Amino acid sequence: MHCTKAILILLASAAWAADFSGASALEFTRKAVAYGPRPPGSEANRKLQAYIESQLKPLRCRVSFDAFTADTPSGKVAMRSIIATFPGASGRTVVVTGHFDTKPMPGRAFVGANDGGSSTGFLLELARVVNTMSHADDIYLVWFDGEEAFGEWSDTNGIYGSKHLADKWSREGALGRIKALINVDMIGDKDLGILQEGNSSPALLRMVWTTAHDLGYGKYFLDSGFATEDDHLPFVHKGVNALDLIDFDYGPGNDYWHTEKDTMDKLSAHSLDVVGNVLVAVMRKL
Ligand SMILES: [Zn+2]
Repeated sequence: MHCTKAILILLASAAWAADFSGASALEFTRKAVAYGPRPPGSEANRKLQAYIESQLKPLRCRVSFDAFTADTPSGKVAMRSIIATFPGASGRTVVVTGHFDTKPMPGRAFVGANDGGSSTGFLLELARVVNTMSHADDIYLVWFDGEEAFGEWSDTNGIYGSKHLADKWSREGALGRIKALINVDMIGDKDLGILQEGNSSPALLRMVWTTAHDLGYGKYFLDSGFATEDDHLPFVHKGVNALDLIDFDYGPGNDYWHTEKDTMDKLSAHSLDVVGNVLVAVMRKL
């Protein structure tokens, strides 16, 4: 009798922290994508910002913003990244980031379900989990604006939000407190395969891959690598222990990437579940 009671109490306390739900992340993604194309400075981009804020409001976090005007090939564009801070007591910080904007494609119905949508929905679900999770470190969740380039990508055209925040945190002396920064991008693809991104911290990458294998998700974390420029890069350049989790093989010949084929039917709750469970396990280890 006693034993049963003790087990029930144990089960109840184990269930105290909410598990990451891929289905919930997919629903958040669907809501974000329903706003249509969401390039920086657009009405839909602002509406999505308001939606993200409304979802964070009931949680035990502080919401702040990094607003600025970017010089782009399309002129000056107002951008605003959103930061949710869940305070810890250690004086150190763990940061998880992703972008919520979609690539400006005038005249085309580019809704970026995977590219912009999945990272937005993933972070909203992660916020729900972190809200009930005990953590020693401050946890920052960041929705970047302006990841995408206006036209052709270059050193000065793209990752506007992360560049701006890395500079701001550098000036404020906040970068030295960061234990790890993990960026997620295009992690909702039904056919999930995360590549070993070459600009990322090798130690952090090994930790994530080992965790994925331990959880039985090894087949989704590939042995092959490639290097890309993404929102982790401004932080890598400033010496932060940073990693980009990206599946850059989206459709036959990457055919869904930056095209009107990047729609909700290409995503799965399971893929978001895999990445979410791995990331939560990594956050507990850091
Ligand atoms: Zn993109």
